[in-house]
Amino acid sequence: MKDQLIEKFRATYGRAPEILAYAPGRIEFIGNHTDYNGGTVLGAAIDRGVAVALAGRADGQRRFASDEREEIVTLRADQMAKLSGAQSWVNYPLGVLAALPVFGARAPAGFDYFAVSNLPTGAGLSSSAAIELASGLVFLEAAGERLARETLVKIGKHAENNFVGVPCGILDQGVSGFGQKNHLVFIDCRGPRFATVPLPAGAHFWIFNTHTKHALVDGLYATRHRECMAAAQALGVSLLVETDAAALEAGRVKLAPEVYRRAKHIVDEIARVEATSTALAQGDLAAVGGLLTASHRSSQHLFENSTAELDFLVDTLVATPHVFGARLTGGGFGGAVMAMTDADFGDAQAQTVAAAYAKKFGAAPDILHTQTGDGARLLT
Ligand code: ADP
Ligand code: MG
Repeated sequence: MKDQLIEKFRATYGRAPEILAYAPGRIEFIGNHTDYNGGTVLGAAIDRGVAVALAGRADGQRRFASDEREEIVTLRADQMAKLSGAQSWVNYPLGVLAALPVFGARAPAGFDYFAVSNLPTGAGLSSSAAIELASGLVFLEAAGERLARETLVKIGKHAENNFVGVPCGILDQGVSGFGQKNHLVFIDCRGPRFATVPLPAGAHFWIFNTHTKHALVDGLYATRHRECMAAAQALGVSLLVETDAAALEAGRVKLAPEVYRRAKHIVDEIARVEATSTALAQGDLAAVGGLLTASHRSSQHLFENSTAELDFLVDTLVATPHVFGARLTGGGFGGAVMAMTDADFGDAQAQTVAAAYAKKFGAAPDILHTQTGDGARLLT
């Protein structure tokens, strides 16, 4: 990826880059909609991501190019307005530049910038966090700034929330920033606090992306958020992380039935993240897989953020040999399912699952076999 990046940078700008950085995509391992409830989540940085190259320019111009897009976008250093249409991808690096001063860091003035990717974009693997963190690293290096990894993570999230305008939680940037090969990233969203947890050897990840998206997905997110906050308020806590299963049952009469179901999902899911950490420490991948599937069932029946397509994939996968467990990954209402398998699950099994899906829903899902990878870093 590095050689390809250098070559494309040279072909585009006629000179060599000075600074290179890489940041991975991520999967949500377990902890569904727990973030804004102050809960915990486990994610995995994967072995695919976005790499960015930069070289300074004395004339103050900023030129942006990507192997994903045709056009080179040229801006003056004081042009910080949000872009639209074919140029809108530049909002990710531009949002990072806008976020730097918010965290007390200078932004570099003029530069040539190039991004390459081996991560599918818009597939729920957070190419957006990957491009933010890789961009953040090259910009900070160019400006001669040294910041803690946690600040880089916050800069990426700030860019996405405030400049791009996507209200993502800390999972995406936190996992891309703190990822480590053969590990999962544990995030306590209050704080936030980050830690890495060893992943027992022999776990493989398969992502089945349905490319479906519920037409009302933004409204449904907002509704779930509101239902969770309503449950917390009725139970007398500020966030659902502060309650537990017993208090929820005691307060059940105060909750509308669907609000109770949302709260039960969150409370149980936070407990499942904890149980997953324990099972991981014991090296018990079968137990971990059972928790992954239980998380999906809770999304399906209690949080009601699954779809017929996602349920079908989970049902088919968990009935397939060599699959430890499967669940929707990400916000739900469409998107992707991830399965954790042993090394003997291969392309043949994945294609059988995809064919059954295609027969029922008319189009095959995209399949990606991936393993854990290291987090964001400068490339030397
Ligand atoms: P996801 O994060 O799941 O991949 P998003 O919609 O959040 O999906 O982010 C995808 C967007 O991020 C793309 O549409 C594009 O604007 C931007 N992006 C990601 N990687 C690149 C890249 N290598 N080059 C240009 N733009 C990119
Ligand atoms: Mg994204």
